[in-house]
Parts: sequence; C-alpha cells; structure tokens
Amino acid sequence: MHATEIEADLTEVLVTEQQIHGKLAELARRIEEDYAGRDLLLVGVLKGAVMVMADLARELGSHIAMDWMAVSSYGAGTTSSGVVRILKDLDTDLAGRDVLIVEDIIDSGLTLSWLQANLRSRGAASVEICALLRKPDAAKVDVDVKYLGFDIPNRFVVGYGLDYAERYRNLRDVAILAPHVYS
Ligand code: 5GP
Ligand code: MG
Ligand code: MG
Repeated sequence: MHATEIEADLTEVLVTEQQIHGKLAELARRIEEDYAGRDLLLVGVLKGAVMVMADLARELGSHIAMDWMAVSSYGAGTTSSGVVRILKDLDTDLAGRDVLIVEDIIDSGLTLSWLQANLRSRGAASVEICALLRKPDAAKVDVDVKYLGFDIPNRFVVGYGLDYAERYRNLRDVAILAPHVYS
C-alpha cells in the first residue's frame, strides 16, 4: 500500500485494521450468544465509537437497535478532564431495555463509569460495556467491560474513529501519533 499523508504523522501502528475486524467478529459471536432472544440496544458514544459501532453492528446477525450519545471528555487536547457532560442525549426510552454501550477506548475510565451509572438510573434491564481499546496503566476507576478488544500501552493513539483535534479518525489502523504533530 502506498504511504498516505496521514501515515507520515504516525510513529507506530498498534492495532491493524485486520486485527480489529477479527476481534470484532469474535466479540459479535459472544454478544449474539449472550443476548440470544433478547432485544438489544447498542448505544454508541460519539464521535470516537462511530467506526466500532459500524463494524460491530454489521457483524451481528440478530435484530439490534442503535442510538447515540455525545458526552464531553477531552476537548481538543490529549489530557483527561474528568468532567462528564451530556452534549447529545439518547432518543430512546431505556425502561426495561438491554443496553450495550459501544466505546472506542477506556483511558481513565471516568467517562464510562459515569455513563454506565447514568444509563442504569434510567431503568434499563441491563447496561453492559463493549470497548475496542483499554489502557490499563491509565485507569483511575475500575470499569467492568464485558466485551474488550485490546489492551494497549498508556500512549495517546489515533485512528479508527479516534482523533487528535478532529483529525485522523479516518485512519484504518490504531496508531501512535508522531511528536512533531503536537508542536
Ligand atoms: P476516559 O474518560 O476513559 O479517560 O476517556 C474517555 C474518552 O477520551 C475516550 O472515549 C476518547 O474519546 C478519549 N481518549 C482517551 N484516550 C484517548 C487516546 O489515546 N486517543 C484519543 N484520540 N482519544 C482518547
Ligand atoms: Mg469515546
Ligand atoms: Mg477526541
């Protein structure tokens, strides 16, 4: 494959497109088994989870519904604020629903632990978490992820939905950004 403009800004690919698709197929099989005969609602967290949601949902052969939330976390920078704010709420009433939160990455864990508690308080029958990536060394709170893709080192990554200042979301792999991009 030819080198793209985006690839020139990367130091290292951590997870390839092939690895991601293989893992999502595997997680989808488990999800189908666990939720067999139930009516699953996938809740994607904008904007980072768009790619995970699109690929995971298409691996699922059963009926699912999708809804979206946007919450504030990082802004344009690379450090966690710890402040969670709802920017866009769900359209769906969660009463009695089986909910699976679909996320790109668990860093400090603050966003997801807050979100899981928030959705549970709306009367959902169950609220579980699926995340493509997790940084174990960055954890500030424990998050109970039922479906996890990959543990990665505590580095700022981009690609497959993850941005730096709104760029790099369209990169197919997950990669570490080169230092010259930050300065
Ligand atoms: P947490 O609340 O777990 O610290 O982080 C939540 C959000 O921060 C993630 O959903 C993601 O949007 C963003 N984030 C955390 N780590 C990274 C990273 O390495 N790269 C990018 N692009 N975003 C990250
Ligand atoms: Mg996210
Ligand atoms: Mg971001």
